[in-house]
Amino acid sequence: MATYRIAVLPGDGVGQEVIPEAVKVLGAVARGAGVVTFEFEPGLIGGAAIDATGDPLPDATLSLCRESHAILFGAVGGPKWDNAPQEKRAERGLLGVRKELDLYANLRPARCFPMLVDASPLKRSIVEGVDIMVVRELTGGLYYGEPRGMEKMADGGRRAINTMTYTSREIERVARVGFDVARKRRKKLASVDKANVLVVSQLWRQVVSEVAREFPDVTLQHVLVDNCAMALVAHPAQFDTIVTENTFGDILSDEAAILAGSMGMLPSASLGETAALYEPVHGTAPDIAGQGTANPIAAILSAAMLLRHSAGMGRDAERVETAVLRVLEKGYRTADIHQDGTTRVGTAQMGDLIVREINMLYS
Ligand code: NAD
Repeated sequence: MATYRIAVLPGDGVGQEVIPEAVKVLGAVARGAGVVTFEFEPGLIGGAAIDATGDPLPDATLSLCRESHAILFGAVGGPKWDNAPQEKRAERGLLGVRKELDLYANLRPARCFPMLVDASPLKRSIVEGVDIMVVRELTGGLYYGEPRGMEKMADGGRRAINTMTYTSREIERVARVGFDVARKRRKKLASVDKANVLVVSQLWRQVVSEVAREFPDVTLQHVLVDNCAMALVAHPAQFDTIVTENTFGDILSDEAAILAGSMGMLPSASLGETAALYEPVHGTAPDIAGQGTANPIAAILSAAMLLRHSAGMGRDAERVETAVLRVLEKGYRTADIHQDGTTRVGTAQMGDLIVREINMLYS
């Protein structure tokens, strides 16, 4: 029996409500599959860690993350900590984990569930059948490039600088993740760049084309970022897997998120060579925190990604996804996706319903 150690970091706000539901789901999978044991180790991060220790990322949490097979993370931040100095802000906790563990590939699926098509602001004919995976490079490019900063100029004006920089190694490793993911899906990869203008993008395109030779079964297409932004809202169903650099990925993955209807439905994974973090895309939702109404599906689908990418349990991940679909098909909805004619349920009830379906899928 394999044992996986999972660091459980709920963080703040609704993170503390949705992560217990994801843990419940992983427990049900372990019982149903009968081939793994999950050891859940809780840790403090974000505002909760500031309140307890004064530090958004205590050493004990970082050590726990390093010693675990995977990290299940909720969300951090909220009005209580908004005025803290930069290095003591709750968000530092998450940024610190990403940086320390070199989590360089961010995977964000955007899937339009058939029964939620009308929750999307786009027309049914556009979003129907959409199932996209955006792979975003997470540790390079404009966000970290040097030199950076702001300076006074001789004429009294000011100048600000950020540097977009990528090495071929950085591009190669994330491209490989992109091809790998595409290979497990519909074998179509769109690499997004701005090679008609940016030198960095020209290197990006060269390196991605070189890596493509290792994946002859995956069809590669190079797409300019401006075209991609248009196509994502005009013909999103044409995309399967998208791989792109940090800044383009930040913007395009949020654009793709609109296709899925609600923030409460979107999971994500951040992968490194030796570590992996799974988290819902949404934040701490202070407007609904503490009410037991948050949608736990994003967190539960993040747990499914953990099964697929960290535990090698792809079939079990599919069971979790099927269980979510079945509960939605039966008409159960949390407040954020509730419509007339459906049954409104709270966070824990939604988790229980999904666990019940999972149990049935294993019986
Ligand atoms: P948010 O994602 O927390 O909320 C945006 C909207 O989506 C709100 O109306 C909220 O009620 C709704 N929502 C979010 N999650 C939901 C869920 N599970 N179920 C139902 N509805 C849900 O974004 P925000 O309001 O911009 O940020 C709030 C706080 O969260 C801020 O402090 C921000 O810094 C932090 N934040 C953290 C992360 C993270 O930890 N990864 C990400 C984004 C925002």
